[in-house]
Amino acid sequence: MPRYEVTDRFVLHAGYACNARCAFCYYLEDLRRGTVRDFTTEQNKRKIRFAYTLGKRAIDISGGEPTIRRDLPELIRFCRQTGYTTINIITNGIATSHAAYCETLKDSGLTEALFSVHSHDESVHDSLTGVAGSYQKIISSIKNFIHLGIPFRINTVITNKNYRYINNFLESVCAWQPGAVNLIVFNPSETAVHVEKNDTVRFSDYHVIGDAISQALDVWKDRFNTINVRFLPFCFLRKHPDTVRTQWQKFHEAQEWDPLLNIVFQKGIMRTLAALTAGLCCPGNTPKFSFKKIDTLLGKLVSNFRIKYYYRQNAECRRCDVSPICTGLQKDYVKKYGFPRNTRITVANAKITDPLFFVHQPKYKRFFPDA
Ligand code: SF4
Repeated sequence: MPRYEVTDRFVLHAGYACNARCAFCYYLEDLRRGTVRDFTTEQNKRKIRFAYTLGKRAIDISGGEPTIRRDLPELIRFCRQTGYTTINIITNGIATSHAAYCETLKDSGLTEALFSVHSHDESVHDSLTGVAGSYQKIISSIKNFIHLGIPFRINTVITNKNYRYINNFLESVCAWQPGAVNLIVFNPSETAVHVEKNDTVRFSDYHVIGDAISQALDVWKDRFNTINVRFLPFCFLRKHPDTVRTQWQKFHEAQEWDPLLNIVFQKGIMRTLAALTAGLCCPGNTPKFSFKKIDTLLGKLVSNFRIKYYYRQNAECRRCDVSPICTGLQKDYVKKYGFPRNTRITVANAKITDPLFFVHQPKYKRFFPDA
């Protein structure tokens, strides 16, 4: 039985305020109403310390948008002094278009960045972020980081507005050779459950999106360090299952987040205890693996609950060989589009229980260090 531990990275949502209004943002309504939560420097430092005590050594500082915080350099310095070896920001690249600010972040101890670029087309990117000029700014930001030698990755959220141009998008960023490109299919779950079900930007037919991504991967997959596709079940990306990251794959991915700390910091201790209890009681059709660390066990229980609560598998899924390592479909997606027909995958005529079954290739090994 493989032995994989949970990722040693966690996310710090330093505060949810933002200088953009992305059409797919989970917090969009709260941003519009001005009711997003904020946290003080001391509150954030307590979380940073707590996560380090639990063994985390990599941190993604996110928001909202972390670069609008005056205390960001201070938080980065605090992470470095605490002992974190990887200190990353997730950013829309508006503030980092100023070269001097990037130097300040680097001097504070920033080791990497994850930029959110949503199109190769300026007007599409700007319309998705809701900020005129944001495309030019994020391009300047990436050039600043290249100049300073700070590694970076790219997130792009795949929506109805940009899925037709994934080829062009990958072509436009290929020369930079980012550490990874994450193609993120909108995930109507958890903090996003209250989004409008008739949202034409965020909700997309997974067959259509899957075909577009698959065609782009045919051309571009081998030309990048890695391209990951988040939250799309395997059956929509049959030719490229090694790129699929459902909740069960990203649980172990070095560049993803510890699910236990995510719920502790966002929902508090009482709800975390409730999720752990529910995760223990949920009948499991989950990946099998042994583990040595307590945070892997607790993270698995939390994930078990989240997946049982927010996702659905049908009879077709239950006959599918990859069902133990796939989450199935988000329940809100099923409400809107129903389950697709004839989707089940036959790989080995036996259930695949190794969550990293498809990623045991040298190319992907560094992203799953325990594999
Ligand atoms: S378990 Fe269901 S959703 Fe997942 S790949 Fe199989 S058929 Fe698709």
